[in-house]
Amino acid sequence: MLLEFPGTRGEIEEESEKHRYHSSIVVNEGDTSILIDFGEKHPPYLRDRINDFNALLITHAHPDHYIWTLREEKEVKIPVYLTEVTLNYGQNKPVNYHVIVPEESFELGSINVVAYEVIHSLRCPAVCYKLKGSKVLVYAPDIVDIGSEGDEEKSDRKRKVFENVDILIADGSSLDVNMVRRKDNKLFGHARIKTIVGWCKKYRIGSLIITHCGKQLVTIDEKELQKKLYEYAEGKVDIRVAYDGYIEEI
Ligand SMILES: [Zn+2]
Ligand SMILES: [Zn+2]
Repeated sequence: MLLEFPGTRGEIEEESEKHRYHSSIVVNEGDTSILIDFGEKHPPYLRDRINDFNALLITHAHPDHYIWTLREEKEVKIPVYLTEVTLNYGQNKPVNYHVIVPEESFELGSINVVAYEVIHSLRCPAVCYKLKGSKVLVYAPDIVDIGSEGDEEKSDRKRKVFENVDILIADGSSLDVNMVRRKDNKLFGHARIKTIVGWCKKYRIGSLIITHCGKQLVTIDEKELQKKLYEYAEGKVDIRVAYDGYIEEI
């Protein structure tokens, strides 16, 4: 499996040379090539290639993931997979859309895909994607947690998502600053990287790639960042921070 990261930046004002474009990922397996998320600020080469992918999967309707929230986009002819709530969020819709149901798997070429609901936004409910090919990965660029608080099924649901995963690719909005908010007893926002590394340890996911970088990651001193990641990992998780154009064979 070959992973490409056209963009690695979250919905923030700040940007750097390494994190300029909104987060997305291309997953290549044999002849199958899937793009996840197509946000407002994407590199020009991604637009040029957009109809070469087998499919585009959308996590949620925030504009750093879903360009249709902001404008009409008819040049994208490939099938676009998204939940009903994301499809109905704004007025614009992809030309070739396919509504997916969370937790129902489907095949895209040689990759098996399942979406799972995650806690992230009250207005734009999000999913993460679990992709199974020669390796199993979970892509969760915007996530507070899986399963709601007080939900007895919570740990079961979380286990379903994180069990037997080779690599987690997840939210870099915050290293250790609290970005979880609460309204009417419902959580929204972003988990800290520290918390995400904890999930990796608990569910024995040995490999973590950070993307969707927030202000803290975009502005922090590189040495300081590496030191903190080293501390969190405790030798149990291999952590990398992706940057725009980053490619990795897994
Ligand atoms: Zn985002
Ligand atoms: Zn979001």
